[in-house]
This record gives sequence, C-alpha cells and structure tokens, in this order.
Amino acid sequence: MVIYKFGGTSVGTPGRMHKVATLITADPTDKIVVLSAVAGTTNTLVEIGELLLSHKQHLAKKLTDDLKEKYDAFVEGLFSTDEGRAAGNRIVEDLFHQISTLTLIPDFNEGNNKTLLAFGELISTNLFHLYLNEAGHKNVLLPALDFMTIDKAGEPEVENIGVKLSGLIEKSKSSLYITQGFICRNPEGQTDNLKRGGSDYTASLIGAAINADEVQVWTDIDGMHNNDPRVVKDTHPIDELTFDEAAELAYFGAKILHPSSILPAQKYGIRVRLKSTMDENATGTLIGVPSTIADIKAIAAKDGIIAIKIKSTRMLLAHGFLRKVFEVFEKYKTPIDMITTSEVAVSLTIDEKTHVTKIVEELKTFGTVEVDENQSIICIVGNMVSEKKGVLMKIFDAIPDIPVRMVSYGGSRNNISLLIDTNYKKEALTELNKGIF
Ligand code: ASP
Ligand code: MG
Repeated sequence: MVIYKFGGTSVGTPGRMHKVATLITADPTDKIVVLSAVAGTTNTLVEIGELLLSHKQHLAKKLTDDLKEKYDAFVEGLFSTDEGRAAGNRIVEDLFHQISTLTLIPDFNEGNNKTLLAFGELISTNLFHLYLNEAGHKNVLLPALDFMTIDKAGEPEVENIGVKLSGLIEKSKSSLYITQGFICRNPEGQTDNLKRGGSDYTASLIGAAINADEVQVWTDIDGMHNNDPRVVKDTHPIDELTFDEAAELAYFGAKILHPSSILPAQKYGIRVRLKSTMDENATGTLIGVPSTIADIKAIAAKDGIIAIKIKSTRMLLAHGFLRKVFEVFEKYKTPIDMITTSEVAVSLTIDEKTHVTKIVEELKTFGTVEVDENQSIICIVGNMVSEKKGVLMKIFDAIPDIPVRMVSYGGSRNNISLLIDTNYKKEALTELNKGIF
C-alpha cells in the first residue's frame, strides 16, 4: 500500500482535482489518498469560528454563505454529468446544513470550533470521492474520524490507528481509498485536529500505522531544494535525504513538509517521497535513505527569530545557572532553537513571540538581558561533522562580509546553524550557494 497526500493547492480548483484523479489512477498500486481542504477553506473556517466565539453570528453566517457559493461553483466545474452534479450538490447542501447548524449554537465553544474546522477536509474528500465515482474509478471513502485517534496529551495513537484502519480496509477491500487529512477524534470522542498543516502528518501516521510501502507527499514543488528557491536562483531538488536531515530542513524553513510528519515515518521506517503535481515524472526527493556521502546537502533559512542574551557574572564558575534560565522558557512553554554559551553569558533564540515580554522580565533577575529581533537562522544541513574536514572554513569563506551573531556547530552531525540579521539573509543564502555547491 502506498499513501498519497495532496495539499490544499493540489485540490484547489476543479481542474486541479481532475489532475489529481488522473495521477492516482494512472498506476494500479493499492493506495490510500489523503486530501487537505481546498486551499483557503480552513482559513475561512478559522475566521467563521473566531466570529462565533466572539458572538458575531451574523457575520459568521455571511462568511458561511459566501463559502457555500464558492462550492456551488466548484461542483459546476468538477462534474460533467447531471447525475454527478446532482450528487455533488447534495453533499454540499448536506455538509453546509451541518455547518449552519453549528453556527446557530448559542454558546458556541472551543469544542464546537474544532468540529467546524473539520469541514474543509470533509468537503474536499466527499467531492473527490463523488468525482471519482462519476469518472468510473471505484474507490472507498474512509472517514478519518473512524480511525485517526489521539490520546489525552494530543498524541496520535499509532497502534490503535493501525488496528482500526486495517479493520476498515479488510472489510471494504478496495485498491483505492480516499480519506481526510488533518482531522481526528480525541479521547472524549469529539472531533479534533492535528493542528494547522496537519495533513502531511496524517499521511505519515497512516503510513506508519499500516506499515505502508511508501508515503508520497505531492505539492507543486519538485522536492526539497538545496537552497530556498524563493530567494536564490539556480537551486535544485535534492534526490535523497536521511530522516534527520529532512527533519532539520522541514523545521528550518523548507515549507514543503510539515516537520511533525517526519517523526512517525522515521520511527516506523517508512520512506517519504516528495513529488510534484506540476511534473509527475520528476524524481522529487526521497526521505529515509541512509547517507553515503559526507557533505553539505542543503541550506534553509528561518525568519522571525528573536535572539536573547543573558549576561551575568553570577554565571562565572556557578552551576545551575542554565537550569534557571531554561525554567523561564519552560514556564512560558516557549521552545528554544539555538543556544551558545560563554563563561559569563548565554545567547539563545526563540521564534514563539507570545510571551517574550514576560520572559525577558523574568530573565532580568539573573543579569543584563539584550534582545535582538528580526533575526534569521541559516541552517546548513548534511552529513558532515568529524569525517568532513574544512566544512566550517568553506561556510565562512563564502560569507566574509556578513556579520554572524551566533554559531551552533556539533549539536548534531546534520546541522550547522548561523544566526544573522534578516536584512542579510538574501545575500547570505546567495553567497553560500555559490561557495558551497
Ligand atoms: N486544512 C488544514 C490546514 O489548512 C490542514 C492541511 O492543509 O494540511 O491547516
Ligand atoms: Mg501543507
């Protein structure tokens, strides 16, 4: 079994949905196709939910009606027979009736909101399923809410998902299944989700749960590139990556894959292939291949980073200082990305801004605190520490004129990170591209 995942843009218009249908029916491999919501729909549902939570039902209703109109048009473009269109219209009426019912709940709460957010994927998969039927491709729609479960801590229950899903597959015996990304059921039995962008995670979880041959994530880019194609010219897709390298890249900027989705694939040893709907014959990037060469494979950048420096003579020869510093971040549930220390100071970076002011206030009890905003992490990924001599020299030789605020080396063999002012990002990525590849 191969798991195929298509994101919101890939199913964003009737034409693109037709393309996905052509792609998945072109080869006879047994597959489970995971779909996101049509691009923009989840954002609209988030807006509707926010309006309802702040008791602006009237505005919520208006947005809901507008969204329904979009789907009425979508159905027109998707189906080509009267019968198909009628089935499409029925499902849109039915699902929007359910959404409207939600919008009428007088004290609409967070739980109702999660139910609301699930409709994007419910609509896209139902329409796609009906379209495949119309086109004569036998397929089974598997409701994700029947097998995709999370525990009390919000963690997906992979074993349980495997048992339930295998049972459903066993019962229906098809070679083509369609299911929803993103949505799941929590221990209270309510509809929940795997957080924004979570459809990649769904695909990887399904792959892990049923020990699939491969997970294919289809987007409109031909794989992970060796540098950011939005910033630098002449980048190229990377053929193969290890799970660790892919995880670093997914986290540091390469927007193509949700970082969480690497974990289940890695844990259960399922390869992940990134493919392009624009060019289905391009090889893309294969993740989960052991590395044979020791070298730099890619560069990525993450913006919106804040650097915090805490300087204290009390740190000199003292123990427990870092623990106290970390406890502040722990208290505000703010993850730290990079860290470097000297004998009397520690610099670290965060990208979660919500509690910055309070964090800084508390850190001031330990010493002087400096905050630099508008920073970028340049992350250099590959298989390099120890075996490969001269890596650092190659990097710094490429960017002699760029002021580097922090360097992190040796945390893992896969990553060297530099922190720079975001104003220098384009120059840094371009020069590194020239100097390294
Ligand atoms: N539809 C969800 C979102 O927009 C999940 C996804 O697209 O991966 O966040
Ligand atoms: Mg996505």
